[in-house]
Amino acid sequence: MTDLPAVFRSAYGAAPTGVWAAPGRVNLIGEHTDYNDGFVLPLAIPYTARAAARRRDDGVLRLHSEQGDGAVTELRVDELAPGTVTGWAQYPAGVVWALREAGHEVGGADFCFDSDVPVGAGLSSSAALECVVAAAYRDLYDLRLDAAELALLAQRAENAFAGVPCGVMDQMASTACAEGGALFLDTRDLSSRQVPLDLAGQGLRLLVIDTRVKHDLGDGAYAELRAGCERAAALLGLPALRDLDLAGLPAALDRLPAELRPLVRHVVTENLRVEQAVAHLDAGELAAIGPILTAGHASLRDDYRVSCPETDLAASAAVEAGALGARMTGGGFGGSVLALVEAEALPQVAAAVTTAFAQAGYATPRTFPVTPAAGARRLA
Ligand code: ADP
Ligand code: MG
Repeated sequence: MTDLPAVFRSAYGAAPTGVWAAPGRVNLIGEHTDYNDGFVLPLAIPYTARAAARRRDDGVLRLHSEQGDGAVTELRVDELAPGTVTGWAQYPAGVVWALREAGHEVGGADFCFDSDVPVGAGLSSSAALECVVAAAYRDLYDLRLDAAELALLAQRAENAFAGVPCGVMDQMASTACAEGGALFLDTRDLSSRQVPLDLAGQGLRLLVIDTRVKHDLGDGAYAELRAGCERAAALLGLPALRDLDLAGLPAALDRLPAELRPLVRHVVTENLRVEQAVAHLDAGELAAIGPILTAGHASLRDDYRVSCPETDLAASAAVEAGALGARMTGGGFGGSVLALVEAEALPQVAAAVTTAFAQAGYATPRTFPVTPAAGARRLA
């Protein structure tokens, strides 16, 4: 692992004040529900963006990333505005902008970043980067901000500064998760609680399959899907699709144009799947969520239509090889698949997916197990 304080000293000629970390995430269940005021159940993974940082009192913000272009980006905090920063620096700069927009009188800082969250794999390397900046600023400037407030600032940075219209799940997972559990989050009011996820105790593993593909149509499709959900809620006279339940679904579908029906069906059933998964986890029945994951994938594939051949193959090959359940995780059109497997079956499931990809002529996927890790924190 990179000696981040050493990188900081050679870039800026002085020691950092501290080192912070914020994790990426996988979402157990609850996909495309977070912009419908619905439920999600993410867990932080043991891969983090780390930041060494020092406060500056001259209004200058300097940013360097080990995963960037090698240069140091230098900005003035009072000149930050959407559209003024390009490339990866938008994410950290956007957080400083969001803090100032929210009325926090923060100045500059020097930052060095290093991250082992796979970039662009649907594991939220972007949220990890934002949240590590938010956590560092909180401490460097003595701000009283809780996990939800940090997450909202990070989300604002991604939405309004980097121009990516994501919901709040990724940032909440990165700031609020705790080791050993998943975060049951109600995205309507950001109330949340930890749900136990004792994989080791039950002889289970969570296997991530990074398909290494990201299809371009994802960006436009996300905005369209989001708009479709909002239109459906408006037509039904509801504040959000979260306000529709399974009992009311058939009558609601009758009132909607055909193209919106599958979207609504996914959101309503997906919220229910989150609640069912939480009930099982609370009861210590971890293996019972397997079929819920698989049903979630089918809904994303057939109703929401955000899967792609690679994620479909990863999920089906995993289940055929003995996984208890598998689903794509993240926004879709590529990215990663999550499989719940018995510990002994882990090698065979990973091998079966790799073989299926080779047979289909796809790039070799990256497979690795994850355990529920802690949210954003100061390391040193
Ligand atoms: P994901 O969040 O699923 O990994 P995104 O496309 O949302 O994928 O975010 C990836 C982008 O975030 C990268 O293209 C880069 O701009 C930025 N990023 C993430 N981590 C780092 C890092 N450690 N250093 C520089 N940029 C990063
Ligand atoms: Mg992202």
